[in-house]
Amino acid sequence: MPMARCPRCSKLFSKTHAQVCARCEPAEEEDYETVRSYLAKHPNKTTEQVAKNTGVDKQCVLRLVSDGRIKNMAAGEGVWCGRCGAPAISTSKRLCEACLKKLNSELLAQQSQVTLPNKEAVRLDQRAHSSSPPPSNDNPADTGRRLREVIDDKRRR
Ligand SMILES: [Zn+2]
Ligand SMILES: [Zn+2]
Repeated sequence: MPMARCPRCSKLFSKTHAQVCARCEPAEEEDYETVRSYLAKHPNKTTEQVAKNTGVDKQCVLRLVSDGRIKNMAAGEGVWCGRCGAPAISTSKRLCEACLKKLNSELLAQQSQVTLPNKEAVRLDQRAHSSSPPPSNDNPADTGRRLREVIDDKRRR
């Protein structure tokens, strides 16, 4: 059985059908009832509003939404950004536009940090192998080409 950390009490438990451990299940159900009855009276609320007005933890509200237990929230879509709880741009992405942009720029920053030392390593590698044939399993020219492809790809974007 897969072990998971209970999001409510942070204890390890064997994950079956529930998102939380057996000890926390009654509390989770209570929160679910609270949120459900709130949304029955006040549909089309955002995660933030639901959490604030019911006193239920925002993470718990997000959990119920991602479980598909709560559907009648804003726009009736029930797809929310996993980072900030704003309406998400698509079901598969689960990110809002602002967080998607942020994530993309974070990825680019990480890539450039990784690419620069690699480029240096390849140059040194080529110099080291200039007098002797490169080992067949790790061709530095090949690595250089791949690197250029990555850089070109980034320029195109
Ligand atoms: Zn628990
Ligand atoms: Zn977001």
